[in-house]
Amino acid sequence: MTNEIKIEHAIGFINAISRQLSAHRDDLNQLDSALGDGDHGTGISTAFEVAVRAIDAIDYPTLEDVWKTTATVLMNRMGGASGALFGTFFLKGVRFTKDKTCLSKADLNEILLAGLDGVKQRGKSDVGDKTMVDALQPAVEAFIASDNLSEGWRQSAIHARQGAESTADLVAKHGRAKFIGERARGHQDAGATTIALMFEAIQDYWEERMNG
Ligand code: ADP
Ligand code: MG
Repeated sequence: MTNEIKIEHAIGFINAISRQLSAHRDDLNQLDSALGDGDHGTGISTAFEVAVRAIDAIDYPTLEDVWKTTATVLMNRMGGASGALFGTFFLKGVRFTKDKTCLSKADLNEILLAGLDGVKQRGKSDVGDKTMVDALQPAVEAFIASDNLSEGWRQSAIHARQGAESTADLVAKHGRAKFIGERARGHQDAGATTIALMFEAIQDYWEERMNG
């Protein structure tokens, strides 16, 4: 049982997210086809594959390197509305990783909250707008309300998934889905689904590490 994130865990998170998003690339493209232009799965999974390789190429990566490299790759290599937003999420966490060799639950609270606030500010979006924020905000709140990392990752994955599913009932206030108005109802948002997959990947990785 550990209540700290070390560099090998941070790298493990990015690898787990990359594998998860690649495995769901076609599903995410399909969700984005109904509401947008159908490129979300390819964009996000390719960007994470590039981030994994970029981190792998660093000789002695630090926690700061992991957050910064992921942010830079998402912003520069993904393009589209969501590349900037996912990139912002990681970029806002960088300052809490500086000169640290491990991160506590309290550090993670700050990293996740700063990331959420950054996404909401940059996207001018809030819960109920049918975007990634509908999954990200409940996930971050559930994490912060939890007493330890294991419970935090477990609760954030559950709440991210519920939040992603809640987007099916909504019409969109942002992005390409805005243009189809009422016809957006019945379709789950791709970006919110990616957030659920990301937290589920972290939860699975963490549970495996703690039990194995
Ligand atoms: P693009 O729309 O440029 O093709 P993607 O397909 O990669 O970008 O991502 C679409 C996702 O981006 C949507 O499913 C939604 O979750 C998210 N998104 C779009 N605009 C916003 C916004 N203003 N705020 C938050 N999330 C947004
Ligand atoms: Mg798209």
